[in-house]
Amino acid sequence: GSGSGEFGSETYLVTGAAGFVGSHVATALKKRGSGVVGLDNVNDYYPRGLKRTRMAKLSEIGVHVVEADLNDASTVRKILDTCRVTTVVHLAAQAGVRYAVKNPGAYVHSNVAGFVTLLEEITRTTPMPKVIFASSSSVYGLNTKVPFSEKDVTDSPASLYAATKKADELLAHTYNHIHGLALTALRFFTVYGPYGRPDMAYFSFANNIMKDKPVKIFKGPDGGELARDFTYIDDVVKGTIAACDTSEKSGKGSDGSRPPFRVYNLGNTQPVTVSDFVSKLERALGKTANRNYVPMPKTGDVPFTHADISAAKKDLGYNPSISLDEGLDSFVRWYSKYYAGGAHAEDTNYVPM
Ligand code: NAD
Repeated sequence: GSGSGEFGSETYLVTGAAGFVGSHVATALKKRGSGVVGLDNVNDYYPRGLKRTRMAKLSEIGVHVVEADLNDASTVRKILDTCRVTTVVHLAAQAGVRYAVKNPGAYVHSNVAGFVTLLEEITRTTPMPKVIFASSSSVYGLNTKVPFSEKDVTDSPASLYAATKKADELLAHTYNHIHGLALTALRFFTVYGPYGRPDMAYFSFANNIMKDKPVKIFKGPDGGELARDFTYIDDVVKGTIAACDTSEKSGKGSDGSRPPFRVYNLGNTQPVTVSDFVSKLERALGKTANRNYVPMPKTGDVPFTHADISAAKKDLGYNPSISLDEGLDSFVRWYSKYYAGGAHAEDTNYVPM
């Protein structure tokens, strides 16, 4: 249903709402009074129990998540029409880099075919909603110029995941051109926080530290250490909602003019080496890691990420404010309960570091 208050006239479809970022975005939109509906196929890439927990929390605040695949065109169509969706926040995807080694088709299915199905149904809707969607820092691939700017050429993806995210940006640009669809791509940089993803390195580090198992730290091709621009979930949520609020409406003007296709980095601009990250995690957990330095396998990870966020600052008022120490404290507050509950990410598709 529709909400009340300042944002009451907007209705959001959040795809990937049972996911990490999607559940946080849907919660924040609902809490400010917007109408929100979710879509997620609740796949088993990582423990479904965690997705169900997020959905139960959403249900408590009145957000319903329709259980369907993006490729189910008629269901997508029905949600857009019956809920009168004005903004689509598209966060559903096959995430992760290493899973592609065994499951390349999953990336094509969700990130390419699923995105096209969604975009097609959006263009059949009147009026067409605007679309804000998740791209990734991985599109910078083997780029060595730091910090990464939206103006940089992104034509050397290092993984199938990155290639499908770059494909999404190209597809979006095409739909913007042909249909006048308002589209904004957000390149997220290693998002972490409560209700986070058990397949991500920071999460498996926490599991391994708790279980006294070795923590594998990859060394880059030059023997140096990997570094990541870890970005706290609440900062990413604020940036994503600001992108929704500042986006133009979809549709061509009578003179053929169309809204711009926009791309923004949503990072933290404070990259840390994985070793320093592990030290901070040790402090937050109050437990020492057993470190095992190994050469980086050739499975698609890039040596470092570092966002230039000046464009998002200027256009969206994006200003990440949560330090890694603060963010890890709140992650660990949640994680300790999750861990105590016996959920150790022991499912079949879990890809250990
Ligand atoms: P997530 O895996 O927790 O959430 C994605 C959700 O999409 C899952 O719940 C999954 O069940 C759903 N989904 C996948 N394929 C689907 C399909 N075909 N139909 C319907 N639902 C489907 O991942 P996340 O961390 O919340 O990521 C959200 C978005 O941000 C993704 O597009 C991801 O690629 C992107 N991203 C995330 C990060 C990060 O660090 N978390 C970094 C860069 C980009």
